[in-house]
Amino acid sequence: MSQEQEVAARFKEVFGRPATVIARAPGRVEFIGNHTDYNGGAVLGAGIDRHVWVAVSRGEPGQFAFCSDQQTTVRTLAAGTSTRQTGALSWLNYPLGVWLALGQFGLSQPADFNLLVHSDLPSGAGLSSSAALELAAGLAFLQLAGAPAITAQRLAELGRHAENNFVGVPCGVLDQGTIAFARRDHLVHIDCMGPKFSTTPMPPGLRLWVFNSLTKHALIDGMYAQRHAECQQAAKALGVELLASLTPAELAARAGGLPPLIAKRARHVVEEHARVGQVVAALAANDMTRVGALLTASHRSSQHLFENSTPQLDFLVDRLVESPGILGARLTGGGFGGAVLALARPEFDAAGAQAVGAAYLAKFGRAPEIIPLQVADGAQLV
Ligand code: ADP
Ligand code: MG
Repeated sequence: MSQEQEVAARFKEVFGRPATVIARAPGRVEFIGNHTDYNGGAVLGAGIDRHVWVAVSRGEPGQFAFCSDQQTTVRTLAAGTSTRQTGALSWLNYPLGVWLALGQFGLSQPADFNLLVHSDLPSGAGLSSSAALELAAGLAFLQLAGAPAITAQRLAELGRHAENNFVGVPCGVLDQGTIAFARRDHLVHIDCMGPKFSTTPMPPGLRLWVFNSLTKHALIDGMYAQRHAECQQAAKALGVELLASLTPAELAARAGGLPPLIAKRARHVVEEHARVGQVVAALAANDMTRVGALLTASHRSSQHLFENSTPQLDFLVDRLVESPGILGARLTGGGFGGAVLALARPEFDAAGAQAVGAAYLAKFGRAPEIIPLQVADGAQLV
């Protein structure tokens, strides 16, 4: 049975009627561009062949009903509920926030619905299951309401609005932008100042691997918000609206008066933004050794300057970069746990990956989740 057939069958089993619409959205990796997005910088991301599916039908009048393969109890809310849910109901905030955002954007909303989420994308791993859920829900709701299709950029804005304003995570446009614009065998380039979106081909013959550390800092949302605040503090002290408007040389000339910690955060962002440009140039020149070195340099900057890495992520990167066939490795996503992305030549294979996994198990008492990736298309109706 295909995943779509499985989703349809499960929907019928749970809600006693067929799904009207099924949408799916891929997870994403941040190829490079760490915490640059909300600082007006550039990022490169890619959709991955792990997805979140959202199936919907109209529901009981006056009611929203939700079920997920991760949270199998059917939860119901009064239609139009606009209060943020907590505890076991927290996951409802993603689809509910998108439904509310449709209204705020002047788009059609279904008056009631049944909604089922199915996923083969690890959640909380830095692969953006939250944005995948938002974008799949957005497409499904619009279609269910009989609304015309919206652009990929509008869809990304809708999901981000829900995550920023209802879920309450101050994420930039990386997650939703990559998932909306993702294209098979391409990287998505986002100039977050615009924002402007484009795609660039992945060089053939390279592989992406994800090593999920399966650890996550308990205070992860607070730490993300703290870094966000530190970047704003740096920008304000430097007299710019967005940190990425500074070159590394300009920052070096002006950073003297900053508190040391704030100066480190600013240096990470400004140099990381410059590194994204260097990766784009190296890709165009087909210089994959240089691309890999820049990815690893990004990790070292996260490790030492932005301090959003963990001993687990550092260990994975250290082991990967000494493995034959690995061009570079870095934490992917917000950090403070989650996953490492490795760029590899084909000679790095399952045996090489298992060797890294075995070393991690010996050190931390737990095997990482190892995922070989294909670069996939973006959010779509199925
Ligand atoms: P990430 O986006 O990196 O996966 P987040 O913490 O931003 O991590 O988002 C994870 C949250 O998204 C989960 O805690 C849950 O609330 C929601 N979520 C993701 N996938 C699912 C799913 N299949 N079913 C229900 N909720 C999900
Ligand atoms: Mg997320």
